[in-house]
Amino acid sequence: MAEAAVGFASQAVPPHAADSPWVQSLQQLDAAADLLMLGDDLRALLASPRKALEVAVPFRLDTGEVVTVTGYRVQHSTTRGPAKGGVRYHPAVDLELVKALAMWMTWKCALVDLPYGGGKGGIRCDPVALSTEERERMTRRYAAEIMPIIGPGRDVLAPDLNTGEREMAWILDTYNTFSGTNLGSPVTGRPVVIGGARGRRVATGYGVACCCRWIAERLGLAAPVRVALAGFGNVGQGAATELARDPAFRIVAVSDVTGGRRDPRGLPVAELLRQAAAGVPVRDMDAGRPIDRDEVLTVDCDLLVPAATSGVVTAGNAGAIRARAIVEGANGPVTPDAEAALAGDGISIVPDILANAGGVIASHLESIQEGNGRRWTDREFALLVHDRMQEAFAAVAESAAAQGVTLRLAALARAIERVAHAHLTRGLYP
Ligand code: NAD
Repeated sequence: MAEAAVGFASQAVPPHAADSPWVQSLQQLDAAADLLMLGDDLRALLASPRKALEVAVPFRLDTGEVVTVTGYRVQHSTTRGPAKGGVRYHPAVDLELVKALAMWMTWKCALVDLPYGGGKGGIRCDPVALSTEERERMTRRYAAEIMPIIGPGRDVLAPDLNTGEREMAWILDTYNTFSGTNLGSPVTGRPVVIGGARGRRVATGYGVACCCRWIAERLGLAAPVRVALAGFGNVGQGAATELARDPAFRIVAVSDVTGGRRDPRGLPVAELLRQAAAGVPVRDMDAGRPIDRDEVLTVDCDLLVPAATSGVVTAGNAGAIRARAIVEGANGPVTPDAEAALAGDGISIVPDILANAGGVIASHLESIQEGNGRRWTDREFALLVHDRMQEAFAAVAESAAAQGVTLRLAALARAIERVAHAHLTRGLYP
């Protein structure tokens, strides 16, 4: 049995740096807890995930060789409801990252007042190196390994970086096969034909686009508002789709992992989406002119939307960012050092737990739909996501202004206060 095949990331856990997402998430918790004047006991409780599971995921490659990768599922909180959060396939996945992402899910669900806690999962692998069949075997084995702690009412999974409807379908099917029941789903974001909600697919990007509108209004940005999108997967494409409908916005640059394209007069979004659907990487798209992937972060624009991985805006490139505001489509795209530098330059940040909450709001709608058989029209669905996001955005903006703090701190404090209140109301077992 081979330890690791060509193309697989090292299984060694990298040491976490001072600006790692986990350290970042703890610092954020501390800052919000200071604002809320929470005691040490509650802080310690909120800082500790309820459960963290690490599993070996052995699976067969198409060559017949068996490789073993590491998978995780972390339930940060189940205080306000079952754990809820995505599954990520990426070479940088480790326990610390998954813990941070799970904590952010808790705050996100609380911020938009959903009856969920927070969870996250992932596999450290290089998904690009996998065939569809290998991906399926890996996904099903991962689902089988984390079976004891997931399921409706416990922990409900969803798509994240490098996973989508297809992976959700495999997880659902594996879960149903093991449990011998079809009652309740262990995933949201599944294909429509097996109970998914049509609006779920674009909901995260739709919510990001709404936040672009609201922050542009608050900052008084003149039309056309120029947007740079760093990341062109589910979130980036969803945001582009919605912004392209609004003549007040213009997408001036996009990137994916392969490279970027730029046109200061505005890229043809419908054409980009068509080429993306045909599998053309951004680097090779026939639109605008090619630029380096990371150049998209620093192009001349009004709004920057990082919609890929965490930690892309760093102390190293923050000074070169020309946007007036950053709308965090991705989770944790701005490091704490960068955030301090951006604040000094007067650049606002619409934080991830607010900006990308559209996805989990839609997941909740999908669960309601599963329970009562109700089918919303696309219009109704978008309106439900819009209204919940708008309520949260307005409350966060108001409290940030009133307290003289950043949008991030205001959002965290609002969410953490809700979770802390729920803890205190439940009391402690035994
Ligand atoms: P995805 O896999 O569909 O797309 C990711 C995109 O980012 C791809 O275009 C990829 O090529 C690109 N990319 C990767 N590394 C890059 C880099 N360094 N620079 C530029 N582009 C890069 O993933 P997604 O579902 O769109 O998720 C993106 C982010 O949004 C993640 O941080 C995820 O946690 C967050 N998010 C997703 C959802 C959801 O519903 N999918 C919900 C909330 C938050």
